[in-house]
Amino acid sequence: MNIAGPVSAMTLAERARRAAKVAAEFADQVDTEGRFPREGMDALKAERLMGVMIRPELGGEAASMTEIADLCAILGQACASTAMTYAMHQIQIASLADYAVGSAWHEAFLKRICDEQLLIASATSEAGIGGNLRNSICAVDLDGETARLEKNATVISYGAMADAIIVTSRRNADAPHSDQIATLFLKEQYSLERTSVWDTLGMRGTCSDGYIFKAEAPAEQILPKPFAEIAAQSMLAVSHLLWGALWYGIAADAVARSQAFVKAAARKSPGQTPPGALRLAEASNLLQQVKANVVAGLKQFEAAKGDADALNAMSFSVAMNNIKVGTSQMILTIINHCMLICGIAAYKNGTPFSLGRHLRDAHSAQLMISNDRILGNTSTMLLVNKQDTSLLG
Ligand SMILES: Cc1cc2nc3c(=O)[nH]c(=O)nc-3n(C[C@H](O)[C@H](O)[C@H](O)COP(=O)(O)OP(=O)(O)OC[C@H]3O[C@@H](n4cnc5c(N)ncnc54)[C@H](O)[C@@H]3O)c2cc1C
Repeated sequence: MNIAGPVSAMTLAERARRAAKVAAEFADQVDTEGRFPREGMDALKAERLMGVMIRPELGGEAASMTEIADLCAILGQACASTAMTYAMHQIQIASLADYAVGSAWHEAFLKRICDEQLLIASATSEAGIGGNLRNSICAVDLDGETARLEKNATVISYGAMADAIIVTSRRNADAPHSDQIATLFLKEQYSLERTSVWDTLGMRGTCSDGYIFKAEAPAEQILPKPFAEIAAQSMLAVSHLLWGALWYGIAADAVARSQAFVKAAARKSPGQTPPGALRLAEASNLLQQVKANVVAGLKQFEAAKGDADALNAMSFSVAMNNIKVGTSQMILTIINHCMLICGIAAYKNGTPFSLGRHLRDAHSAQLMISNDRILGNTSTMLLVNKQDTSLLG
């Protein structure tokens, strides 16, 4: 008699690991050619991971931010460009899922994301503004029920490959720079005229070219909440947490490679501790600090979720900013340690211990919303906000 075993659905992490395997296979090629990580992203779509954060009645799986961060960390260990593309898409989903509730148009679109596994990009950076997310020069021109927008967008990751782009702007031509809205434009509603090519040190597969973005769409596609609220309560925290998770992934893979190097050296000389072993212990220690930083931030975010006062609190913003600055700095130190452990085998491309791609990708972390800009914001908050000195609170 055949007894059927228990049927258990694959977890999100197991599905992400399958996609990560594909992404890892093409990571060096994506980096060398500076091309979109098509294979990794197709694998994520095949695993139906694009809309998992969306609520089940719209076709999603109600995945938590902690679960999404775990997927980003898994992908970060395979291909940082795939991981960053996935993370940036999820940052947009988080804004839509929580800050367009009750908007029939946006809810129908969320369902489409799940059904069709759509990819969403973001255009916040603007010529003359740089990485100052909370300011815009461009303004929506409302003509009856039609919204028109032109933006000199200096960086739109995977802009040419996206199915839709969420674009920040001023509410109208008379509004101050900080009175912003966010509008979701569908691919068929905009044109992109390329103004700069993303030929960079790292994160090359994100294809973050610059464009003159021109669009026209029904005004109902403007997100119902002011962008100030979306940025403060969702976008900044989610960005720092998901980026932190994938940056952890890059560093974790570097440590795994250097551990393999040290183990191989130990096998060659039994009875002798390889010279890199001590530094490996140090790298492991630093990696644990990055992990603890991201996990503590995720716990704080999950506890505050849905509580506007907690999300708006300065202490929350300071904590999220610290996660971004801390993780982005620490991963460089870790990968540098790994370089010293593996030596030329890390410096050279095409060895099992190569770390050039990791180091180059990791260098984007400090610039992706400049750490100096973030530290500037934190320092202003610390002039009035009491530093949280509790251990658990
Ligand atoms: C991999 C990657 C993908 C990206 N994808 C996107 C995307 O999809 N969409 C998008 O809109 N943007 C994207 N960006 C852009 C990013 O979010 C920032 O806007 C950009 O990195 C900032 O560019 P910047 O350094 O030229 O500008 P700025 O932020 O203007 O900074 C310029 C320099 O001035 C200094 N500076 C500026 N302001 C201050 C201040 N207040 N205090 C102290 N120093 C200051 C900093 O040291 C900084 O080096 C991406 C960036 C990267 C690296």
